[in-house]
Amino acid sequence: MDESPMPAVFLGHGNPMNAIEHNRYTEAWRALGESLPTPRAVVVVSAHWYIGHTAVTAMAQPRTIHDFYGFPDELFAVDYPAPGAPDVAGEVAEAIKPRFAGLDAESWGIDHGAWSVLRHVFPDADVPVVQLSIDATKSYDEHLALGASLAPLRRRGVLVVGSGNVVHNLRRLAWDQPGAGFDWARRFDDEARTRLTTDPASVAGLVDHPDHELAVPTPDHFLPLLYVAGLAAADGATGSTLVEGYDLGSLSMTSYTFG
Ligand code: ZN
Repeated sequence: MDESPMPAVFLGHGNPMNAIEHNRYTEAWRALGESLPTPRAVVVVSAHWYIGHTAVTAMAQPRTIHDFYGFPDELFAVDYPAPGAPDVAGEVAEAIKPRFAGLDAESWGIDHGAWSVLRHVFPDADVPVVQLSIDATKSYDEHLALGASLAPLRRRGVLVVGSGNVVHNLRRLAWDQPGAGFDWARRFDDEARTRLTTDPASVAGLVDHPDHELAVPTPDHFLPLLYVAGLAAADGATGSTLVEGYDLGSLSMTSYTFG
């Protein structure tokens, strides 16, 4: 049965410490969760499940994955016990046909790209979580197309979340500049905003932006945006800024909602 569509969202997760901190980004994520009707499930495309094929988590109880190092014990102690949704995993695999998604019953779970934001959006961990991997071998256009194929899920009560960062350059991090954004980071983020708020699919064209190499030195954190942009474009939706800003010079924290 079709219902009024869920929005799709892109959340700039940034530093893993945001999982346990409270700041204007985490407040925006929390407000988002409070503003939504409770989804049937959330499908997360996380920067941190970046592998050689498309897979979807299909276990009934996904584990919390602590896929980082060098952070405080408090962050390793976080558990996000949301259930999985094997039925929704099957719907994802069906939606993206003729492309193939492997159903993952035991290898992955909920990684920190997902739980660092979901902990704020759904603090009670009561919305089932499915993760969709990013196939590192695919082109920007193929990721857009995969995202577009997920559009029907919005009308079945499923919230699609991309979790990454529009600008993410770990080699250029300035740990002494919290809240700052380098000029090149701002230029790239500004152009992304212009595109996402007018013609979301055109965000793939940022591959030709003069600052692309600095803003997207590796594609993992940018690609989740393409899924959400592709989905939005398929439904004729444009983006609205949920919260915007920079951190440590080379991270954009900008988040968007679509539809
Ligand atoms: Zn990350």
